[in-house]
Amino acid sequence: MSDCVFCQIVAGRIPSTKVHEDELTLAFMDIGEVNPGHMLVAVKPHVENIYGLDETLAAAVFRTAARVARAAQKAYAPEGLTLYQANGVAAGQTVFHFHLHLVPRYAHDGMRLSWPAKNPPRAQLEANAARLRAALD
Ligand code: 5GP
Ligand code: ZN
Repeated sequence: MSDCVFCQIVAGRIPSTKVHEDELTLAFMDIGEVNPGHMLVAVKPHVENIYGLDETLAAAVFRTAARVARAAQKAYAPEGLTLYQANGVAAGQTVFHFHLHLVPRYAHDGMRLSWPAKNPPRAQLEANAARLRAALD
């Protein structure tokens, strides 16, 4: 897609700082780095979100993520590493081309995701799971 910034990066039409690439994925530095070593792992084909990933792309993106995560661990020895991935505006997605964030983490680094746990009763979890099982392809 010509108006997609990550397609432009994959095609080399706009510059990026690459860490690793293979046939299906590209790992590169996020210009909005939260902590040093913050990378994005994008699929090369234009797939908007997780719903569009086939098995090959899904496997490829996680293979690359695991590999560059080990590199981040070796290079920075962070106290932690967060994988973040947003689908849709409500989830915080701003670039509509599938990517994972890998963010090296430190105590008190200021990165926060509010997590309003509701702890519903087991029966509610059972009902939710049944609804999901019925929707599986
Ligand atoms: P999202 O909010 O969709 O999960 O994350 C999109 C990320 O892409 C943001 O963290 C933003 O900093 C990054 N980003 C947006 N445009 C560019 C760009 O042109 N180059 C790079 N390297 N990162 C970008
Ligand atoms: Zn794209």
